[in-house]
Amino acid sequence: MLEVWLKPAILAWIALGGLALGVLLVVKAPYGRHARTGWGPSIPNRLGWILMETPSVLVMACLFLMADVRGPCSWIFLGIWQAHYIHRAWVFPFRVRGTPGRMPLFIAVSGLSFNLVNAFINGAWLFLLSNRADPSWLGDPRFISGVVLFGIGFVINLVSDTHLLTLRAENRGYQIPRHPLFRHISCPNYLGEIMEWTGWALATWSLPGLAFAIWTFCNLAPRARSHHRWYQENFSDYPPARKALFPKVF
Ligand code: NDP
Repeated sequence: MLEVWLKPAILAWIALGGLALGVLLVVKAPYGRHARTGWGPSIPNRLGWILMETPSVLVMACLFLMADVRGPCSWIFLGIWQAHYIHRAWVFPFRVRGTPGRMPLFIAVSGLSFNLVNAFINGAWLFLLSNRADPSWLGDPRFISGVVLFGIGFVINLVSDTHLLTLRAENRGYQIPRHPLFRHISCPNYLGEIMEWTGWALATWSLPGLAFAIWTFCNLAPRARSHHRWYQENFSDYPPARKALFPKVF
């Protein structure tokens, strides 16, 4: 039953990601430096992050437990997913120091809905429908290169977020990031995140993995563009050669 409707549902989901890209190029997601009034009730940022991201941890864990067969690859997929999401849901929100911010409830509910669908399609495909539990997948070049790409992206995301959080903790308002990872682009944290889920798509070699990579790009490329323009408008000494997301390109 799941097999029958999952594929068309994911194709529709990918199309929705494309629509989100179009909307986000016009309307900046109203949180962080782009927060503004007119988006309904708001909640503390920390609560928002926990609410948005926790479903990804729990849904994936439940689907893993429901699997009839588990192999070493299943454990690796669970491990890298949870390394990212346990940090994002339960560690990252407590690493944000400085003046507490708020986000619209609408953003938290949108993020939560996205994560419910995303974790469900990825977990269901990995643990209930595919044969990725088979140990032979461990030696497949797609698996190996995907896991390596995920790992590099994870480190880039973590290190650049850490630099931004350090600047934020100084309570001096937004500053120009000077860490080497920011030398060529304004948003290496977003580039790292895109690399992570592109690596995931490669390692799982699956339609849900591809959908996640596409959605991540659709979410973060417009936000990187908005951040980049914001820096250029607010700092006259912003490094002119710095791009938004991809060195020398965009
Ligand atoms: P931002 O880069 O906008 O902000 C990260 C943190 O650093 C915030 O606490 C922000 O404060 C602070 N900060 C950012 N720039 C500066 C600066 N120049 N000076 C001082 N403080 C700064 O990232 P997001 O909040 O959009 O995202 C956080 C994480 O979540 C990222 O790793 C991102 O990749 C991930 N994410 C993933 C998504 C996906 O689709 N997979 C979607 C959205 C986020 P403040 O909040 O006050 O601006």
